[in-house]
Amino acid sequence: MLEPLRRIVQEVNAAPDFRAVLEIIVERVKAAMSTGMCSIYLLDPVSKRYILSATRGLLPESVGKVTMSTEEGLVGLVASRAEPVNLEHAETHPRFAYFPETGEERFSSFLGAPIIHQREVLGVLVVQQQERRRFDESEEAFLITVSAQLAGVIAHAEATGELVRITAPEADTGPSAVYPGIASAPGIGIGHAVVVSSPADLYAVPKRRSDDIPGELEQFRRALEKTQQDVRSAKNDLKGILSAEELEMFDVYLRMLEDHSLGGEVIALINQGFTAQSAWSQVVIEHIRTFSRMDSEYLRERASDVRDLGRRVLEHLQQTTRPEQRVYPQNTILIGEDLAAPHLAEVPFERIRGIVSVRGSHNSHMAIIGRAMGIPTVMGAIDLPWAELEGQRIIVDGHLGHILVDPSPEVERAFAEVFRQEQILAADLLATRDEPSITACGAEIGLWVNTGLRVDTKLSLETGAAGVGLYRTEIPFFLQERFPSEEEQRQIYRDQLQIYAPCPVTMRTLDIGGDKALPYFPISEENPFLGWRGIRVTLDHPEIFLAQVRAMMRASEDIDNLRILLPMISSIEEVDSALALIARVYTELTVEEGYRIEMPKVGVMIEVPAAVYQTRDLAQRVDFLSVGTNDLTQYLLAVDRNNPRVAALYHGYHPALLKALRHIVAEAGALGREVSVCGELAGDPMGAVLLAGLGYRTLSMSAANLLRVKAVLRQLTLAEMTTLAARLSELPDATSVKHELQQALQRPGVERLLHAPRGRGAAA
Ligand code: PEP
Ligand code: MG
Repeated sequence: MLEPLRRIVQEVNAAPDFRAVLEIIVERVKAAMSTGMCSIYLLDPVSKRYILSATRGLLPESVGKVTMSTEEGLVGLVASRAEPVNLEHAETHPRFAYFPETGEERFSSFLGAPIIHQREVLGVLVVQQQERRRFDESEEAFLITVSAQLAGVIAHAEATGELVRITAPEADTGPSAVYPGIASAPGIGIGHAVVVSSPADLYAVPKRRSDDIPGELEQFRRALEKTQQDVRSAKNDLKGILSAEELEMFDVYLRMLEDHSLGGEVIALINQGFTAQSAWSQVVIEHIRTFSRMDSEYLRERASDVRDLGRRVLEHLQQTTRPEQRVYPQNTILIGEDLAAPHLAEVPFERIRGIVSVRGSHNSHMAIIGRAMGIPTVMGAIDLPWAELEGQRIIVDGHLGHILVDPSPEVERAFAEVFRQEQILAADLLATRDEPSITACGAEIGLWVNTGLRVDTKLSLETGAAGVGLYRTEIPFFLQERFPSEEEQRQIYRDQLQIYAPCPVTMRTLDIGGDKALPYFPISEENPFLGWRGIRVTLDHPEIFLAQVRAMMRASEDIDNLRILLPMISSIEEVDSALALIARVYTELTVEEGYRIEMPKVGVMIEVPAAVYQTRDLAQRVDFLSVGTNDLTQYLLAVDRNNPRVAALYHGYHPALLKALRHIVAEAGALGREVSVCGELAGDPMGAVLLAGLGYRTLSMSAANLLRVKAVLRQLTLAEMTTLAARLSELPDATSVKHELQQALQRPGVERLLHAPRGRGAAA
């Protein structure tokens, strides 16, 4: 059964649309299981009925007409039980229902498997046979496997609106324009899509147009020539190693590139106005699709040759494309499959209105940067047809995590109104810049900022923050093409220290690894978040660590507002080794090289569960502690902070996290050590209330959130927050904590600060 399964998966992947997927499945499953019938029933989310949506073996006219609720028929039985039903003699079963329009009285045995996605039964896959027999275990396993495959495809079709075209064609009002993602930085962004693609990925090439047809043709010609040269020289190199027959493959490649083959089709598309890259990828993808569907094994294998050739030519095209061709409109919505800091660095900051990434989640670094810069951001938009959006009108709703493609003028007006209200709130908040950050009872809560990019400086200074609680040094490292030298680093750090002086600036040593790979220092691991990251990398490369600490200390000469923070600490040995290296640098600089520098305070991040339980031992060795709730949440709950599939399980209000936070603050307090929080929870106004209630007196956050947090804290007394936090950390689950917190903060003046303003149509 493995071969038919492999073929089905291959064909489904190559299918042009959802309807074709359904047809492939019923056709292939019927053939592979040699049954008389195979059908798919899909759930109509409105009527909650399962609709016959594709069949081989029932009358084709019955598609779309036969429907069942979970109370009706054997299909309903499979759906309600959410498990397979295998019957030798279906007609004698009490749930058997007869539908004359299907002509199904010819069948006797029945096997139905539910199609389940994220615990919901989206459909039922059924096979039936005339002959009376019980399907065996391997057949049942086969059908369940195909159903599991189908589940993901149906969920995708539901998100893109393709499903509704099948289950309720009369309700379809054209292609769906709203795509869900994960709300990652609040705000509304309205503008035009600029799609950023990953190199040499055929499926990542945006459909882009160009006015310069001769230029595009010339680029294509040059890329073809270069590829032909590559292929010829590869053939030469392999003479004597490969057989004459195997070498012939290279001639096939060369022929494919000729004008009467792929080359000709591409030229035709370029002449229609597509860029060379876009035309090439469209043609190649279509050919891959055609080959993958062929019956002959030999021809199917050719699909991978076309794919390989496609990548080679694309690589040359991407190398010859002049970077200045890239035009960023005044209102750019930056969209990409896996956006990262370097993509952002290329766009003039004042032109970015929104950020959308297909991969990643609320706590990915792209999201954190989006929040730091105050740009509405949606991550994890896995269903977005992103490669096709170039130049389209887009609304990014960073509050709800929605992306609206080509909205109607009415919807756009509604969002523009929400945007306007947000600007009013932002202006109101800005006016509170100089108010002290104290609670209603007068207790001071230090509000600091997290920084990293140069562009966030203006926003940070505008907030009147009391210091920098986290300067992520890896961000300037991302923006280079190699490790910056000690002197280059010194200048970058000096800028930061000077801008915020005399306020303290907490510089974290390089925290790469996990989801933060430097382009010039790739780390490839099965499980990167449990791998070589943060302090583990820099202790293994003391030359990197020493250069960085030297640069930081030299930068602080005469300013002396530097604090050094160590990331990803999971053992005391790591702290001791790092402290020894820091002490060595200090001695070298002050004793041997004559710098006049005060010894900076050194702290560690508490972001790994092991560190939580060693808070006391850690606190004894350092000057301060800073809790990284982003990683602490992911490690405590075993939920990847970047994975949209488990994003709903990543919960900053989880009682386990609240208990850990309480433990840390108590332990640090017992030793009189300063402890702050620099994870994203601190910048969430409701999270800040909880943290203040748990005993934290310093919170560091994205500048975009600071004034909002201050305004909320100013309206509550410490006693209120303490009682609330004590009560909530005893609740059994995160949903109850959030709910109760919202209830408790439902009061005039506070509510407006917790939720963004909503206009008519904002949730469209
Ligand atoms: C954290 O983990 O909470 C943190 C502040 O560090 P980062 O988000 O950079 O991993
Ligand atoms: Mg961290």
